[in-house]
Amino acid sequence: MPPKIARFLETAELPSPCLVVDVDIVAHNWTELARSLPQARIFYAVKANPANEIVSRLARLGSCFDTASMGEIDLCLRHRVSPDRISFGNTIKKERDIASAFAKGVRLYAFDSEAELEKIARSAPGSKVYCRVLMECEGAEWPLSRKFGCEPEMAADLLVRARELGLDAYGVSFHVGSQQTDLTQYDKALVQASALFDALAERGIELKLVNMGGGFPSRYRTDVPSIEAYGAAIREALARRFGDRQPDVIVEPGRGIVGDAGVIQSEVVLVSEKGGNDQRRWVYLDVGKFHGLAETMDEAIKYRLLTPHDGGETAPVVLAGPTCDSADILYEKADYRLPTALKAGDKVCILATGAYTTTYSAVAFNGFPPLASICI
Ligand SMILES: *Cc1c(COP(=O)(O)O)cnc(C)c1O
Repeated sequence: MPPKIARFLETAELPSPCLVVDVDIVAHNWTELARSLPQARIFYAVKANPANEIVSRLARLGSCFDTASMGEIDLCLRHRVSPDRISFGNTIKKERDIASAFAKGVRLYAFDSEAELEKIARSAPGSKVYCRVLMECEGAEWPLSRKFGCEPEMAADLLVRARELGLDAYGVSFHVGSQQTDLTQYDKALVQASALFDALAERGIELKLVNMGGGFPSRYRTDVPSIEAYGAAIREALARRFGDRQPDVIVEPGRGIVGDAGVIQSEVVLVSEKGGNDQRRWVYLDVGKFHGLAETMDEAIKYRLLTPHDGGETAPVVLAGPTCDSADILYEKADYRLPTALKAGDKVCILATGAYTTTYSAVAFNGFPPLASICI
């Protein structure tokens, strides 16, 4: 529990559930990453947490921003981020949004298909484009595979096509998967990227950019490598694969910047049992899959919990949210144990919930308000 958040929770009157984000930690994480990877430009992935205070603080630190929609682009522009610090990194864009982004000055676009490239050529002529390449996302707890990227051979053809269409065939991008704790994955991706640089050079195109996406972790139930370890792994991989012809490098961290800066304070609504053979208690919180904890899907992200009875006797539980949907179970298989003294009304804090929570919260499912959020 970050000390500033702990002090704040002692006295603050908050709705429940509520996410509290310490923006100083956000700034610290950004600065640490910048220090660990001095050759990279950092494009914060806005979708991880688009709170005004976060965007504004990162903008003042000099961050760039990776966006996926006009809503995110306009948010950055409102915080006086100049359009040359914004990428439109979604490979699936409406053509009218591309036109609108272009009119506002955005000149850097992602694609992974010919149809998308044609949209960009028509509505953002002459812009810089980078092709997203498919990745396995092995080792990632929240993979971003399959849906994004194309095979490397196709990427090469598309980048040639980009030039034919009058675009600036600028580089390649990949994402090794979110919450990626296997540091060798960046090197694997750079093997592909440097092969593409060579293949394109033979076809007369000099690529300049490698966009390495995100994947930087938060600490949930298990330890993760430090940001310095990520920086070192990426720096070594860049040196190994590109030698003295270093490309421009972009990273797009989301989770690694905001994840451990946030804590959700929630409340126990009910502790009950079902009878029969399963002795486990069911603990129902006032926050669930539909109030921001969507990444518990398939029990992928395993958050750490704090209760007022920590240190006392514990027993296995099934942990669930408050809605009338049986999908709203957080953990059934992941061996969660909670104190036997836990009862309705107790506050439960869910750690490292600064990323991918408020944005995943439903507006009014079952009449529950969306996850409240406050930045301190
Ligand atoms: C979501 C996303 C990111 C952020 O990923 P993290 O693992 O949270 O760092 C970066 N780039 C793109 C294109 C994304 O879609």
